[in-house]
Amino acid sequence: MPSNNPDTGALGLLGGTFDPIHFGHLRLAEEAREALNLAQVALIPAGRPPHRGAPQSPAVDRLEMVRLASAGNPGLVVDAGEVFAHSKSYTVLTLERLRAQHGPDRPLVLILGADAFNGLPSWHRWQDLFALAHIAVANRPGFAPHGRRWPGTLSPELDAACAGRIDTDPTVLHQNPAGRVVPFDMTPLAISASLIRDLIHGGHSARYLLPDPVLDYIGLHHLYRKT
Ligand code: ATP
Repeated sequence: MPSNNPDTGALGLLGGTFDPIHFGHLRLAEEAREALNLAQVALIPAGRPPHRGAPQSPAVDRLEMVRLASAGNPGLVVDAGEVFAHSKSYTVLTLERLRAQHGPDRPLVLILGADAFNGLPSWHRWQDLFALAHIAVANRPGFAPHGRRWPGTLSPELDAACAGRIDTDPTVLHQNPAGRVVPFDMTPLAISASLIRDLIHGGHSARYLLPDPVLDYIGLHHLYRKT
């Protein structure tokens, strides 16, 4: 039986720009925690994401929105390490920091939506990620591969890197500290931060796509509006 001890059990890691955080992110974290039997999930807002243009909101605002969204859920913790780091937000550096912090034996599980997983070969030192953590991949509407339908849909280099690592039984995540790739199904939610930014920018309601306290914060700080 996997340990749910918040200090020693498998720790989920969900990084993102969170510009802003929304119910797609929160259900991803919550459903990963349950489906994979994780002790907790750490939400890790990127300070300076390397794969895209600058986020529209400052990192401190995105961090505050993540804190508001996760307040009251003991299964979620917020890791502000990337926000206050001086370097670009490379996941491999974050995983090295967390591996040093939690020791060599604690299972770490990097949680990715299918879009992020497909883009993995463009990440800095991506092949090193497998030695540092497991990877759990959720379906996301509009993006292949969807959950249990793969392998067979991955790019050749990702397919090669995942050879022998893919397992649909999440208990493997608790038997080793790193190195397995596990797909899991979550409630499909076609919500994205860009959709929310576009709605607010266009003067439309984004209500019920993200938590009310986050929406209130966006209103109070005039985020994503036309200037
Ligand atoms: P944007 O629209 O600005 O690109 P986003 O909504 O994709 O943002 P990110 O912060 O880039 O959000 O995503 C962080 C992580 O959450 C990624 O692994 C992404 O795949 C995952 N994710 C985001 N939204 C969903 C969703 N609706 N369903 C499943 N995974 C999601």
